[in-house]
Amino acid sequence: MKAKIGFFDFAGCEGCQLTVMNLEEELLQVLQLVEIVAFREVMGGSATAARLDIAFVEGSICRPGDRERLLKIRRRSEILVALGSCADNGGVNALGSDRTPEVLCQQVYGANLPHLYTEPPQPLAAVVTVDYRIPGCPIDGREFLATLQALLLHQQPELPSFSVCVECKLAEYPCSFDDGQICLGPITRAGCRAICVEGGSYCRGCRGLIDSPRTSPYHRILEEHGLSVEEILDQYRTFNVKEQPS
Ligand code: SF4
Ligand code: SF4
Ligand code: SF4
Repeated sequence: MKAKIGFFDFAGCEGCQLTVMNLEEELLQVLQLVEIVAFREVMGGSATAARLDIAFVEGSICRPGDRERLLKIRRRSEILVALGSCADNGGVNALGSDRTPEVLCQQVYGANLPHLYTEPPQPLAAVVTVDYRIPGCPIDGREFLATLQALLLHQQPELPSFSVCVECKLAEYPCSFDDGQICLGPITRAGCRAICVEGGSYCRGCRGLIDSPRTSPYHRILEEHGLSVEEILDQYRTFNVKEQPS
């Protein structure tokens, strides 16, 4: 029997779901193994299956009814996976968590729209147990497929424990620091193949901290390039308000 999987979204830009949709060719093969019973962005409507083997959940919790809806998804799902940084750690949404919903609405929309938010944006784990997570803003499509494959084989999906610098060096991209740019690669979890550096930019840390960041050598690199820890922390906040390196 095919595994029943569903995709659900809360507050976010839906870019992580879009990444899954963009897997086009691979999705045709995936559909031989799973039955997708919920995926509003693709199929419309809402899921009717009573039980789900795997729920992939995107976005943060902040709007009226979010908590109740997430709890319902959790109750009917064997495995729940946080899809992307909004779901995993609050992501860019959490930047507003130091303000009241009313102030945030006023600052963003210039009008009082309190119905949009009832609480500061929270990751899924603030409400339910999250079994696995796929970090990134957006997620990496190949990592999504690897996670799904592991779960279908009843194995533990694993995230890389090394930094973006490793993938960057292996690909022989020029280092951003040598161009006078800041980069969060030394402390950020790999898995994206340093895609931002490949594209001529630098790592902004969207995949979150590696397990044991070696901050002392990083401090030395910053000093050598005339950069301060505060500048790095400021950049790191963009995706990781709730998880700061020391
Ligand atoms: S993690 Fe990024 S890409 Fe995914 S929903 Fe949130 S803002 Fe969009
Ligand atoms: S560009 Fe960034 S990720 Fe690449 S080696 Fe330099 S510091 Fe590391
Ligand atoms: S290079 Fe950094 S910011 Fe870019 S996708 Fe990878 S982890 Fe995210």
